[in-house]
Parts: sequence; structure tokens; C-alpha cells
Amino acid sequence: MKQKGAEDQPEHILRGVGGSPGIVFATVYRVHAEDAPGLDRVINPGEISGEIERFKTAVNETRLQIDQIQQKVRQAISQGDAIIFDVHKMVLDDSAFFDETIRKIERDRVNAEKALRGVTLRYGEVLSALEDEYLRERAADIKDVARRVLRNLAGEKTHALDELHEKCIVVAADLSPSETASLQRDLVLGFATDVGSSTSHTAIMARAFGIPAVVGLGDVTHRVETGDQILIDGTEGVVILNPSVASLNKYEALARQRDSIQSGLAGLRNQPAITRDGHRVVLSANIELVEEVSEVRKAGAEGVGLFRSEYLYIASRTLPTEEEQLAAYQGVASQLAPDPVIIRTVDLGGDKFASSLNLPPEINPFLGFRAIRFCLAQPTIFKTQLRAILRASAHGKVRIMYPMISNVGEVIRANLILEDCKGELRREAIPFDEHIEVGVMIEIPSAAITADIIAKQVSFFSMGTNDLVQYTLAVDRVNDRVAHLYEPTHPAVLRLMKMTIEAGHARGIWVGVCGQMAGDPLMTHLLLGLGIDELSMAPAALPAVKEMIRSVTLVQAKRLAEGALREDTAAGVLAHCRELMARVAPEILELVK
Ligand code: PEP
Ligand code: MG
Repeated sequence: MKQKGAEDQPEHILRGVGGSPGIVFATVYRVHAEDAPGLDRVINPGEISGEIERFKTAVNETRLQIDQIQQKVRQAISQGDAIIFDVHKMVLDDSAFFDETIRKIERDRVNAEKALRGVTLRYGEVLSALEDEYLRERAADIKDVARRVLRNLAGEKTHALDELHEKCIVVAADLSPSETASLQRDLVLGFATDVGSSTSHTAIMARAFGIPAVVGLGDVTHRVETGDQILIDGTEGVVILNPSVASLNKYEALARQRDSIQSGLAGLRNQPAITRDGHRVVLSANIELVEEVSEVRKAGAEGVGLFRSEYLYIASRTLPTEEEQLAAYQGVASQLAPDPVIIRTVDLGGDKFASSLNLPPEINPFLGFRAIRFCLAQPTIFKTQLRAILRASAHGKVRIMYPMISNVGEVIRANLILEDCKGELRREAIPFDEHIEVGVMIEIPSAAITADIIAKQVSFFSMGTNDLVQYTLAVDRVNDRVAHLYEPTHPAVLRLMKMTIEAGHARGIWVGVCGQMAGDPLMTHLLLGLGIDELSMAPAALPAVKEMIRSVTLVQAKRLAEGALREDTAAGVLAHCRELMARVAPEILELVK
């Protein structure tokens, strides 16, 4: 934080939700919301040729930009993910898009913006009305491309998110999974968004990249402009516009203090996660992208407890092939061996969509065609992934985990498909781990309540508290308007977790947590006391959680959990957690605000 705030303008504090920890002060780059820039206007006949030229130039610039983004995505993620941009270039060349816009400029005597908006609208309407799902989906591509051209017409090309030149804090209404995955990490120092929660995909990616983020700010895009200076604290969920020198100094000191606590914790890397009375807990890492695997060891994790494999599918125009998936899974498994990687089968739907699947929009996506429901309905796609996972299991310690299980039937059906894949591989003489372990995520109340039944079919449970909280409390996890009701320590959630742990242990299987609660040090003693065997979290969160485990005895943690289970309210439970933390690990309290 080198620069100082503008003293002539008063500072203004906005409060949102901490998406990813860290403090940063920098210049804003505001991403335009849905509305593309540029006013519509009627023109004189003498302006027609000039408008056509403007349009052609903007289309050419757009093509070049798309080429550049395609290159970057190819390098950052994968070849397959970059194919989306070929479709975008095809739209640019399509005569119904290009020629029709020029015709409209000439015929209707309107500027390029108005002509383009008219064509896009008409095109979108026609496609949206078609039976064919694939063609219906193309309406979104056309809108996307048109928005880029409109930005170029307005001379905004140098501000496009994918063309950043300077370090900045990105401010946006929201960032799509593909935008987040392709962010230029060396230039994006932080981000702040109108929507979102600590468990939305944007926050999950920010934590994966170690970029401070504040989400769920409501209207930050209307409060700041490109070029403004803001400070964000992703731990407290605070954004300060025009911070005063006093605030900058305060946060600079806070950042130094947190850094020094974190550096102290770095020494724990090779220490075990063991309580003061000798109880050991497994700490693993969550990853979304293959390249994050290097962070896993650095953080001192004992493998990957959740590999969110859907990021291989997101932003890709084509489904990842068996070979592409094998390369990703094998890479992770062999780098981690002999430590395990739990590959979660694809969890698309909710707030994560893959354009390659062309799934129609749903009114309640979190309650809809998501995760295992999609996989069981699309066995060919599911089998491609299962075969790739099985093949990777010959190169390390791989486990499989099914997401969003709501009844035991789904587990049985998924396992039958898995057995099918094993049979195929045996016939093809392709090696895999014959003893590969299969587990499920417990993240729907019906699964927690029937955990005793489900336990008979699997080798482990991992509780997905991000979803378990939303489904138990009927609170959309990405809706900032109900964020105050999203309470992980609600007694109903704790009871379901306890039930799941007891059911797992009664059957002799281990039970972990891989939702955001696992990486929140304030929750560590409570989870430990509830009897958890494993915690899986963003790598950066691991040292503080390890310190929390090492600061306490299992007896103290159990006493805390017993007290918490007797509490009437989420706030009451939190107070117990804070009280024990303040006693045994006060320095970590500084890290959680
Ligand atoms: C969860 O629901 O807690 C979880 C870990 O999965 P995701 O956040 O990917 O839904
Ligand atoms: Mg989940």
C-alpha cells in the first residue's frame, strides 16, 4: 500500500462479505455490467459510410482481442477451454450479424450501436424461439460478441478485463466462472462484486488464487469508476472508497500484523495436525485447477480432499475428452503420490455452468439438474469422466467422490456405472486401482438424515457445508439479500453434521468436511469436538487451521461441541467458539477479524 488516499474527498465505507482474505489498496478497473456502452442515435445520410467504417474497425478489433484472449486461456487453462472463442469469431463473420448490421445502418440511417443492438435483439429473439437447444444457446454467444463490439465502438477496448495492462482491483456486478478462471493473476490484485457470498464460485476462485476479494456489496459498481482508488479488506468484507491517510495507515498496520502471524504459522508446514492430547486430524486441500497442486504441498496439506473437477468443463465449448481428463487427473495424482487426491465427479449446475452442455436455464438451478443428477441422466458423459479417473488411479492414490447425493439409490446407480467402466478397462487391459475408494458428499439434509443407509455403500463421507447450510436453511448461498440468514452454526446444521459423523463412525468410515467451514479457524475447535476426521480447505487457510488444532485438547473441543449443541441460536454457538479461541489461540482470532 504505497500510495496515499485523496484527502480532498471524504472516505466512504461499504460493507459486503469477505470472499477471500487479504488487504489491498489500488486503482479500480470497473467491468461494465450487462449494459454495453454507447448511445443509440439517428444519423444523416452523409454519416453512413463513416458509421460503416467504425463498425468494420470495431469488428476487426474485436477479432484481434478474441484471438489474444484465446491464446491466454489456452496457456492458462487448456486447449479445450479456448474453443469457445472460435464460436465467437464465427459469429463476427456470420452474414446475419455482420452484413445485416451494415444494411441496417444504411437502410434505417442509425449509428452502428443502434444497428448492432437491433440485429442482436432480432437474432436473439429468433434463436431463443427455436426448438433446437444448441441453437437456442447461441443467443448468448451473439450477445457476448455484440457487447465486445459495442465496447470497441465506444473506444473502451483498452479497459476490457482481458486486456488489463496495469495492476488493479476489478469491480464488477459478478464474474462468470470463465472470467474468473482466466483472470490475469499478476495484474488483478483484488476484486469486489455486487453479488455473491463467501461460498459462491467467484469467492472460491479468489481464495484458490490467493487474491483478496469482497463480494455481495450490492451496488459497488455504481459507487466507483475506473481510475478510483479503493482499499479492500477481504477478511472483514470491507471496501473503502477514497480511504483517508488514517485508514490507510490503520490497514497497513493490520496487514503487517496479519502477515507476521501468517509467517509465524509457515513454520508449522511439516508439523502434524495433532491436538495437545495427541488426537490427529487429516488436513487436506481443495483445488479447482490442476496448476494449484503446487500450493498443496507448500501449505503442508496431506493431499487433496476435494478436486472440483467441473472447472475442466467450464468455459469449454467442447466436453473434455477422456484423454484430456486423464492428463489432468494423472498429473495431480502423480504429483501428490503417495498422498491421496479425492476427485469429485463433475458438479455442474447451481452457479457453475459449462457452455458445452447447452443446458436450458432453470428457475431454481440449485434445486435442479445439478451434479450427480446430471451425470446419472447423461451416462456417456459420466462414463468418460469415470474412466479417466480410474485410469489416473494407476498413477497415484485416487479416490472418487459423488456430489449432491440426495438418496442412496443415486449412489448405487453411480457405483453400477463405475463397475461398468472398471469392466471395460479390464477387458481393454488398461490398469487402474482395483481397490479405489468411493465416497460421497453429504450436502443435502436428506443425505445427512439417511447417512446410516448411505454409509453401507461407500468408504467415506465429506460434508459439503456450503450446500448443506443453504439446503438446510433454505438460503440461496449466492444471494446477498439473504446472506444474513446463511448461518453455518445454526443448530439445525450442527445436528445434521453430528448425525452424519455418528452414522459414518458407526459403520467404520471416516468423515470429513470440505465446505468453507473447514477453512474457517473459528470453526475448527467445534468441528474437532463434533468428531471430524478430516478437514479440506483452500491451501492458504491451512496453516491457521493447523495451529487451531494444535492449540487445544480433544477434551476441550468436545466440551465446546457439547455446549454448542445445547445452544438455541447460531450466534450463541459462535460465542462459544470465540471464547475458546480467545483463550487458546488469541493470535488466530486476529486473522478472522
Ligand atoms: C460444498 O457444498 O460445501 C462444497 C464443498 O462443494 P461446492 O462448494 O463446490 O458446492
Ligand atoms: Mg457443494
